[in-house]
Amino acid sequence: MKAIEAKIVVLGSQGVGKTSIVAKYISNIYSKEIGPTIGASFFTCKINLNNVKVKMQLWDTAGQERFKAMAPMYYRNANAALLVFDVTNHTSFDEVKGWVLELQKNVQESMFLLLVGNKIDLEERRAVSHEEAVMYAQSIGAQFIETSVVRDQGIEQVFISIGLGLINLS
Ligand code: GDP
Ligand code: MG
Repeated sequence: MKAIEAKIVVLGSQGVGKTSIVAKYISNIYSKEIGPTIGASFFTCKINLNNVKVKMQLWDTAGQERFKAMAPMYYRNANAALLVFDVTNHTSFDEVKGWVLELQKNVQESMFLLLVGNKIDLEERRAVSHEEAVMYAQSIGAQFIETSVVRDQGIEQVFISIGLGLINLS
């Protein structure tokens, strides 16, 4: 079986659910609750898709959410980025645009971009429409998925999409 390895950076404003998304996926695939390891800079996981083994290194951010606080080497050799916002917080959606500009400045090689609108369980508080997010995703060549960690909606699709995107780039 062909195998590829990839570094995936998880970017977005504080509180949008980045750590929750990664922890939910990791705990689902290991079928047990494992909290994010304190001090660990990344998690690894494997997913088999279309006869390709995709080994992912997931880099979560904690407390470096303002991009001035983040070293460019953090995302310089990344193969994919998860750009997470909270659908109830329009500012968090606007801040994704800042991350995309940072990536465009610092990443030379082509990168798979996945825009993630999290917390869709809070539909009554929605501040970013599906259409607005789809339009923005198209404008930056990204795919778009809506998720809820609370309801376990869309989480697995996020990682399948990344895997397929990485296979296409490889
Ligand atoms: P991070 O700062 O981006 O890593 O965000 P966290 O993963 O720490 O989550 C911030 C808060 O949002 C926590 O209280 C989570 O429980 C909550 N949260 C995360 N995902 C969801 C979701 O899908 N729905 C709701 N209602 N809350 C969520
Ligand atoms: Mg976090």
